Amino acid sequence: MVNLWLGKLKGHISEAKNRAKADKLEREAAEKHPNSIILTKREVQGEWDASRVLVTTIGGAPRPITTNDLAQFRHNMRMAQKNFNGDGITARQVIDLASSKPMPGTGSDTDIDRARKQITMAVPVSAFNNEVRFITNAGPDSEVNRHHVLVRFNAFSVAANKLMASTAKERRDPKQTANWLRKQKLAFDCSCGRHRYWFRYISTIGNFNAGRKEMGFPKIRNPNLKGVACKHVLRVMSEVESSTSVLNFLAKHMEKLRDSQDNTAKHRIKQKEHDDEIKKRANSRVNTIKTSEQRAAERKRAKERESLHKKAKQVKRIERKPTATRRIEAALASGKLSASDLEVLRRIGFTDKQVAEKLKG
Ligand SMILES: [Zn+2]
Repeated sequence: MVNLWLGKLKGHISEAKNRAKADKLEREAAEKHPNSIILTKREVQGEWDASRVLVTTIGGAPRPITTNDLAQFRHNMRMAQKNFNGDGITARQVIDLASSKPMPGTGSDTDIDRARKQITMAVPVSAFNNEVRFITNAGPDSEVNRHHVLVRFNAFSVAANKLMASTAKERRDPKQTANWLRKQKLAFDCSCGRHRYWFRYISTIGNFNAGRKEMGFPKIRNPNLKGVACKHVLRVMSEVESSTSVLNFLAKHMEKLRDSQDNTAKHRIKQKEHDDEIKKRANSRVNTIKTSEQRAAERKRAKERESLHKKAKQVKRIERKPTATRRIEAALASGKLSASDLEVLRRIGFTDKQVAEKLKG
């Protein structure tokens, strides 16, 4: 069995912030370095110093970048941006895009395949207003044992305003609002290298980046700008979209929001809650990450099953004779009633029901 315990929750925020800080410092140093290999925003826009030798893998093997490549990069950006509209992205869109336009990794498996196989836990640990911090387990080859995924719910203030109209006693409203909120647009960030080098640029140009912005074009790792999210984010998105534990967590957060004086809220799970959850999960199946297509196919199958079931029921109803008829038939078969007697009874006006009644006596 996979070790599902995600470690000590105390200190998770500073751990996440420290990792983000280290990432930021490294990135700044890389850009300042005299031999920086970062392809900047202005260079992609065409301010290109031809004496600079930078490498791209577009078209296959690594080779020096030409001005034609820059045009191709801008085209790829426009193509990628077409997949997104406006501010943020929904959890469902992330899963669907990861499945329909995957970024092929080193092997044949995609990020969504890896999320399904390797990332079995994603738990919301703390929330401060619109930001919810998740911890996930790390993959088998990782040098760390967990990752931090930050999700920013863009519709948080709308949710706050919705809740202003309810009383502190209304139990349904926070849960309903939580369920609404989790289907709305969001932004995300992950502490892993895959997000950093492959996808951070995409989430920046798509306006669904909740961490450091990345303006350097991923000319080597992902010049075609394929895919959308790492396996950790994909597992989190699946949980956000459909898990009860995320719904319950968000409902608590919404409850605090409803009861707060100034429309702010903080919520955190306790170590014991997490440990209990792990025990519960140890005996249950991991949620499957489903794309919209898979959901539609499932709904179709369920509908077909239901209609088959209905038809079978109808047939049964037709086949099933009235009780009186069955009783008469049984009496005829056993000799308790003769066919000629039955005929007489019917002729003098007895209904089958009355005949059956008489047979009972
Ligand atoms: Zn990640």
